[in-house]
Amino acid sequence: MDHPSPHVLLFPLPIQSPINSMLHLAELFCLAGLQVTFLNTNHNQKLLLRHTNVESRFRQYPRFRFRTISDGLPEENPRSSVQFGELISSLQAVAEPFLREILLSSSSDGVTEPPVTCVIPDGLFYYAVDIGNEIGVPVIPFDTISPCCLWVYLCIPKLIQAEEIPFKAGMQGLLRRRDFPFYRLIDYATDPYCQIALKEVESIPRSNGLILNTFEDLDGPLLSLIRSHCQQTYAIGPLHLHLKTKLAEKRMPISASSNSLWEEDHSSIQWLDAQPIESVIYVSFGSMATLSKEEILEFWHGLVNSGIRFLWVMRSNLLRGEESNHQFVKELSEGCKERAYIVSWAPQEKVLAHSAIGGFLTHSGWNSTMESIVQGKPMICWAVYVDQRVTSRFVGEVWKIGVDMKDICDRYIIEKMVKDLMVTNRDEFKKSAEKLSNLAKESVGDGGSSYNALQCLVDDVKKLGR
Ligand code: UDP
Repeated sequence: MDHPSPHVLLFPLPIQSPINSMLHLAELFCLAGLQVTFLNTNHNQKLLLRHTNVESRFRQYPRFRFRTISDGLPEENPRSSVQFGELISSLQAVAEPFLREILLSSSSDGVTEPPVTCVIPDGLFYYAVDIGNEIGVPVIPFDTISPCCLWVYLCIPKLIQAEEIPFKAGMQGLLRRRDFPFYRLIDYATDPYCQIALKEVESIPRSNGLILNTFEDLDGPLLSLIRSHCQQTYAIGPLHLHLKTKLAEKRMPISASSNSLWEEDHSSIQWLDAQPIESVIYVSFGSMATLSKEEILEFWHGLVNSGIRFLWVMRSNLLRGEESNHQFVKELSEGCKERAYIVSWAPQEKVLAHSAIGGFLTHSGWNSTMESIVQGKPMICWAVYVDQRVTSRFVGEVWKIGVDMKDICDRYIIEKMVKDLMVTNRDEFKKSAEKLSNLAKESVGDGGSSYNALQCLVDDVKKLGR
């Protein structure tokens, strides 16, 4: 029997990609008729409302609410230079008492809403699992990193036990030392991010399930391994495509569904409209990675020397250690106006869907990877940290939909790889990328694996009561 009023509390990490994925999930839950509360930080909520139509978009769902909390940092802190670990722990100090209070109260806002019956926090918020268990509210974490990296996390305790970590020379197998999320670390025991990942891994068996943004045809073998740790693992991705498909099914508008914390520059689409089919490589390093001036110049020269047109997202805070890269970017773009276009933030899903785009030079963030797979665009991967390092290996070696440049930043290699992807081996890469794209589409269509998994998740959430 259904619980009278299933009410889900979604709590994303306070950064762009998980906010994006959790909003997609929130809307899918709304379409399934669930009561949904989306917990955002004050800072990100302001940015979201400033740069998107999210408020009016969600107004059509009367059972949806945003709630906000402080991230624990002073209001005037610009956040752009805050270490990720610092942000996570300052938020934890605010979130723990908030979660206790909201889960203990008989209504979520004290007046109109029924109590929360299920919490869906980001996987890194391991403490939400303990709070839920303590109060008796089910928790199903949503791990927004790549499943291949989650698998590495799950293996870390065993690797430590076997004294494989800290690394010995000569690790064998698919993953090399440089593919590991924390390969630079000498001491796993004291690294704060590794400690959070380990706590997350420990919390998984105590949770009521696990949500992943992937699909069976992409990650089937890994999902079987992950299920040995958490039987109830729901693979419901690619989420952005899943949402679009459901909206189309219900004949609801799907245009302009940005969740961006930055203002999107739509002139990138006009520029692409004027370029030949599959002639442009899209270059973006996501929302957080920073590059040194030397690295930006290596990429720039490699791209220019390849002779291939490119569209590059240079966020205002892309240049490491600088407040703004305005002057630097201006000087660069003056030098190659006819073949290059620079924006500070792009409507990425639309860019990747554009027929002028033939490939993607990416930092292998999980959202970017899924968005590229959906559009069947081959990738050059330049991984910066954490899951990107594992994902880029899978792109090159397992899925074979691109090349893994890993952490090498050399203009000659960049030039060679751009030519390889866009010209020399274009047909081969395109064929495998398009094959995966079709499988992604099938997975979210009626009866597909992700479609069924979402149905199962919604049914389970409805059953979870207090
Ligand atoms: N993104 C965007 N415009 C840009 C750059 C990125 O909309 O100019 C979006 C992109 O579509 C993706 C997210 O930002 O959904 C970046 O997530 P990802 O996991 O790839 O990288 P992260 O930012 O977490 O490193």
